[in-house]
Amino acid sequence: MTFKVAIVGRPNVGKSTLFNRLVGRRIALVDDTPGVTRDRRVHPARLLDLRFDLIDTAGFEEAPEPTLAGRMRAQTETAIDEADLVLFMIDARAGVMPDDSTFAEVVRRKGKPVVLVANKTDVRGTEAGVLEAFGLGLGEPVAISAEHGQGMAELRDAIAEHA
Ligand code: GDP
Ligand code: MG
Repeated sequence: MTFKVAIVGRPNVGKSTLFNRLVGRRIALVDDTPGVTRDRRVHPARLLDLRFDLIDTAGFEEAPEPTLAGRMRAQTETAIDEADLVLFMIDARAGVMPDDSTFAEVVRRKGKPVVLVANKTDVRGTEAGVLEAFGLGLGEPVAISAEHGQGMAELRDAIAEHA
């Protein structure tokens, strides 16, 4: 059985960008358009020498929930339930937003191993956002740029501790 990883977090933090980088193909939607049908939700992924399966949370957007918040929550919870490890992503440029805290609480309640990821650190002045991430109580954030591939060795090491 392959180790399963889910990338979760509020919209726009960069989940699909990291997903695409690790899967190596343009599978995930980069704009979170709801209602797009997928035939597969789990994709083989690689980070340096580590191989694992990534759960495509965009595939859960058709969950029968009336509100966007409800769908986001349902998709996050389903992904976490299927995962062995959760990558919880925030946008270090924006810092910790109220929705991040809400999602973090969902993740914490599930009790799954978590790697906290602070994305978009290619942007200047994101140190404060990375520091804020410590306050989520999910451990030490790994600073990355999903778009530019920075911090991948550190992310690899953080994942390998749980794999
Ligand atoms: P998702 O909604 O969490 O799946 O986020 P997306 O992957 O769709 O990305 C949302 C936006 O953030 C897009 O405009 C991306 O190009 C941008 N983005 C994602 N990762 C990075 C990054 O590492 N650095 C910067 N500067 N922008 C990023
Ligand atoms: Mg997305």
